[in-house]
Amino acid sequence: MVNEVVDVEAVRKDFPVLQRKVHGRPLVYLDSAATSQKPQPVLDVMTRFYEDVNSNVHRGVHALAEEATEAYEAARGKIARFVGADPRGVVFTKNTTESINLLAYSWARPRLREDDIVLSTEMEHHANIVPWQLVQPEAGFDLRYVPLTDSSRLDMAAFDEIVSTGRVKVFTVTAMSNVVGVINPVAEMASKVRAANRDAIVVVDGAQSVPHLPTDMLALDADFLCFSGHKMLGPTGIGVLAGRVDLLDEMQPFLGGGEMISNVTLEGTTFNEVPYKFEAGTPPIAQAVGLGAAVDYLNEVGMDVVRRHEVELLEKAIPALHSLGRVTVHGPVAPEDRGAAISFAIDGIHPHDIGTIMDREGVAVRAGHHCAKPLVRTLGSAATTRASFYIYNTLDEVDALVDAVEATKRFFDR
Ligand code: PLP
Repeated sequence: MVNEVVDVEAVRKDFPVLQRKVHGRPLVYLDSAATSQKPQPVLDVMTRFYEDVNSNVHRGVHALAEEATEAYEAARGKIARFVGADPRGVVFTKNTTESINLLAYSWARPRLREDDIVLSTEMEHHANIVPWQLVQPEAGFDLRYVPLTDSSRLDMAAFDEIVSTGRVKVFTVTAMSNVVGVINPVAEMASKVRAANRDAIVVVDGAQSVPHLPTDMLALDADFLCFSGHKMLGPTGIGVLAGRVDLLDEMQPFLGGGEMISNVTLEGTTFNEVPYKFEAGTPPIAQAVGLGAAVDYLNEVGMDVVRRHEVELLEKAIPALHSLGRVTVHGPVAPEDRGAAISFAIDGIHPHDIGTIMDREGVAVRAGHHCAKPLVRTLGSAATTRASFYIYNTLDEVDALVDAVEATKRFFDR
């Protein structure tokens, strides 16, 4: 049967950590944009893997090695289907950050020259800025950023102007902002980039979008999609680079060592086929299996249903926060235009102080620059407070958020 809505109470029972208290109050966890909580089926699958199977993959002839390899490769298949990728184009990495570094070092560095532009945006997480900066001096390409409008959206006129040069070889963009929640029109932008330069590639940072929106690489028109397991109910230590097999085939490996080779002599090495060419050393096996279980869990709920649930939370939270005196909510007002990360400011109170007082109320939010300093600077501040939702959050927790913001104002007004 297809779910219509999230049965939040049933979902919450699957998350052991949500049963605990902090400072003597029930935990209200509003920090899923940083990392999500993990449901019991994910924890169980990983424990069972270590208890019943544990073995290295791909290089053993014994039963456990075969079972471990099957479990690892089955997870790859599930994750590929989840985002509409070819399993041979699904590379397991450590996280989104490593996936983007892999592209900067293995695709951009050997290919790009002074005439080329790598186009990122001012909305990006540092993970989609710094890797390009690291390879830029050697490759010599022009690193440009799409600026933001006053309403924290990508400035499409500026984007069109840069793209019209025909020099953009890499367009790399977040599908959903981790700070202001903006959902970007990735496919529309990708088609403009390709129209201006058919050799260009499109890289999508899906760290925030893949956990919260139905995702199809073809519909996104992405050549590469990067995301992290830990933000989508899976464990830490596993990320994904999903990409076009033909492009991965042409690329040099990022890291060298065991598993990624076809033959090694003292004079040189030939490489394994994709995706193994990019998985040097013992991979995060239990983590991949755990991420496969997380994908099963999300599929069971249904990604459309996940999205609908978060829109419902946003429909209540955004107007409620907007209506509070001295509170500014950053980013779009319409829930359809945004994801479930809400950054806000309270006039005259530092975000770290807000986070600390809210924590005393049992509400876990994040304060800081959210690893997106260029974006946060455009908000006229060095930091924001951010509340972020996921499938286990309730409408009552939206009330708890609003109450905690009011309590914080009262605390500092004393
Ligand atoms: N990109 C975005 C939009 C993010 O929100 C994050 C993490 O917050 C990252 C990239 C980096 O993810 P990770 O730290 O898992 O590599």
